[in-house]
Amino acid sequence: MMRQYLEVKALNPDAILFFRLGDFYEMFFEDAVRASELLQITLTARAKNAEKVPMAGVPYHSARRYIAKLVEHGLKVAICEQVEEAGSGPGIVRREVTRVITPGMVLDEEALEPRASNFLAAVYPGAQGFGAALLEASTGEFFSLEAETTQELVEALARVEPRELLVPEGEKDSPDTAFIVSRLARPPAVAELEKAAFEPGRATVYLRGHFAVQSLEAFGLQDAPLATGAAGAALRYLKDTQKTAAAHVDRLSRHQRGVHLLMDEASRSNLEVLRTLRDGGRKGSLLGVLDRTATGLGARKLARWLAAPLCSLPEINARLDSVEELSQRSVWREEMTSLLKEVGDIERLCGRLSLGAGNARDLRALGLSLAQLPRLGAVLARCESVLLKSLAGPLGALPELTQLLLGAVVDEPPPSLKEGGFIRPGFHAELDKLVELSTSGKDFLLKIETRERERTGINSLKIRYNKVFGYYLEVTKANLHLVPSDYIRKQTMVGAERFITPELKEYEEKVLTAEERRSALELELFEQLRAQVVKEAPRLRSAAEAVATADALLSFARCAAEYGYVRPVVDESEVLAITAGRHPVVERMLGAGEAFVPNDVKMDSEEAQILVITGPNMAGKSTVMRQVALTVLMAQAGSFVPAGSAHIGLSDRIFTRVGAADNLARGQSTFMVEMTETSHILHHATRRSLVVLDEIGRGTSTYDGLSIAWAVAEHLHDKVGARTLFATHYHELVDLSREKPRVKNMCIAVREQGGKVLFLRKLVPGGANRSYGIEVARLAGLPPEVVMRARDILQNLESGEFDDSGRPRLARRTSRAPSPGQLGLFGGGAEPGPKLEPSHQKVLEALRGVKVDE
Ligand code: ADP
Repeated sequence: MMRQYLEVKALNPDAILFFRLGDFYEMFFEDAVRASELLQITLTARAKNAEKVPMAGVPYHSARRYIAKLVEHGLKVAICEQVEEAGSGPGIVRREVTRVITPGMVLDEEALEPRASNFLAAVYPGAQGFGAALLEASTGEFFSLEAETTQELVEALARVEPRELLVPEGEKDSPDTAFIVSRLARPPAVAELEKAAFEPGRATVYLRGHFAVQSLEAFGLQDAPLATGAAGAALRYLKDTQKTAAAHVDRLSRHQRGVHLLMDEASRSNLEVLRTLRDGGRKGSLLGVLDRTATGLGARKLARWLAAPLCSLPEINARLDSVEELSQRSVWREEMTSLLKEVGDIERLCGRLSLGAGNARDLRALGLSLAQLPRLGAVLARCESVLLKSLAGPLGALPELTQLLLGAVVDEPPPSLKEGGFIRPGFHAELDKLVELSTSGKDFLLKIETRERERTGINSLKIRYNKVFGYYLEVTKANLHLVPSDYIRKQTMVGAERFITPELKEYEEKVLTAEERRSALELELFEQLRAQVVKEAPRLRSAAEAVATADALLSFARCAAEYGYVRPVVDESEVLAITAGRHPVVERMLGAGEAFVPNDVKMDSEEAQILVITGPNMAGKSTVMRQVALTVLMAQAGSFVPAGSAHIGLSDRIFTRVGAADNLARGQSTFMVEMTETSHILHHATRRSLVVLDEIGRGTSTYDGLSIAWAVAEHLHDKVGARTLFATHYHELVDLSREKPRVKNMCIAVREQGGKVLFLRKLVPGGANRSYGIEVARLAGLPPEVVMRARDILQNLESGEFDDSGRPRLARRTSRAPSPGQLGLFGGGAEPGPKLEPSHQKVLEALRGVKVDE
């Protein structure tokens, strides 16, 4: 057995091997050690010669939970089953790996988060960029794309938050792979597949075979070898790990550039679109507020919409029309919600069944879900908006399958397919006969028992069953003299003897074969039903798509109606005008008695392209800027927005550079990250972009920071032309508006009351004339003497007192200070003047030898 184990393990070296032994899955060696730690199960040992083999096991009936946990930790699990009956041949039973579960290849409903997608991303690096394919195994969604840079690639991948990254062999530890993983908010597990699977020529043949098409042109892949390679590898990985034909993967679409509003991963995380920065949870994110969907299908669709808002006016307006209509119809909303609540995860049910993993409960659940669709379709058909109306068609398209499934499967099918008992009586005549035979056969046995008691006068005579003899008659010792001559003796026990009769054997034969044939026939019928589902997979997918879209639109409509959102005017202009705007998340998080203060923001490319927003810390600068970015994002996703009114000229991209996001874990200094991101923005922003910059230059000294902030703002004004919100605590920056016509100053009003700062949260024209840092420091509880001293120094600075070397006078009695000029990083810096002692010299040399970058 160990030899067999090692052979199988050698074929699956990168997976934890679940080796089926009777009622357990056992793990050995390293796998056992690792799994026992992660799963907190007992590590035992099995003696092998003198050495002990570490071993750990889980019962097969509760294995799903354990598998899910290992996969959550980013591990692969290979399931090795006994593929023949024990004792059916000489020697040990054959075992084979029947499925490999990986973080991106999860099909088990228990392990899947119902409201989140579970994508695999295959990435194929080429000389001129990257190809990528995104595949959702549980639903069959399949996309491909090409990207020129890692940055662009990460933007595309981040929209679906893949759980697993598949790269060609040898790429697992490459710098590109490391970069991609480090840039994704939820870092995926990384797996490798042989290089040949990515090779575009082979991938083309493979994909053509799978989709049964002559060319890949229909998928937009004719001139995209890298995307083709990645798609081929992704599909192969699915088929190889799941050992299936993957019939539910029936289309592949290419993501083209320019369809979606672009957002780099840093911006998406900064704006907390899908999850919060604090704990990575949904609660407190934009999605957390806007997700009022009733189904997992709808929840996943909504997340997709928010992660990738649109750039096309007709599509945006189609969604807005739908939201408007539903937001005005509370009765329809309630009706749709209660119908949707009864709809299961059609996409994933269909996916599981197509992959050969489903059971009778899945058929029943699918039937029940489908039964709701025509009623949902009827509500949608009543709608005026074109998009909602168009969803009705696909919902009514599956009456036969619905009838078939509901008619075929009992109300509460057992979880296992083995024993039968899930096909409804009346569905199949031959099956009914077999069921009848096995139950009536049992009745008949009872009749024989009564008859024989009467005939022999043995009142304690019983018909019993065991595996060795089948049915037999049991007579106690005391009654043996009454046994008739036609009984055949089979076995003598201590207090009784066992007999059979030809009649008994005949019925036994009937009952047992009937039961066997019954379960075989039910299994056959199950396969037929499954085949019907697979045949209808494309229509099921369209229906699921329609349900998801309706649910997502309904969710927007509920928010619009219940949170007081308005329909934004979205057009081709370069205006961004929001009156009485609110932050969608902050306004929901405020406690009782706290009111959110709405604000107006007005920008355009002619007069107010850049708003410089000043105000003390905690005044609400970040909040107002984020709320503008989120409002634009929501509008382009097709949602109503939290404002009194909103006029939004389409954006092609949203950039945010917010706060000192903590990238220290990635080994970069905060300031370096800040500058890298700023540089990315300056390179990629267009006139149509929305740029949100919060406290640029904060990570370095005042003069550096101020100079950089100034120059960045100038560049955005002169060269880029993007609508920009620029928050800063450098109140010196308000002077920029004197030189640059399209720069406007705004500040957040505060009032001083009895030497204290009162935050009014109101955005008003003009610049803050002073900063309130010291006041905030005082509020934070800095010792009074420190606060007083700070006030002194500030006064010195503001009155322009400088010392001999031109530095602002801080100390009351200054000693000679070194030159204030900026040092070059590389050579040319000023050497320290005084002669050094030899021991200091050593220190200096040691310092020089330090490789700072490492
Ligand atoms: P800044 O960026 O100026 O330091 P923030 O935007 O972080 O300030 O705001 C500080 C706090 O003030 C936030 O936590 C938020 O709860 C509250 N706040 C900001 N704007 C408003 C508003 N318009 N109405 C009510 N509370 C607000």
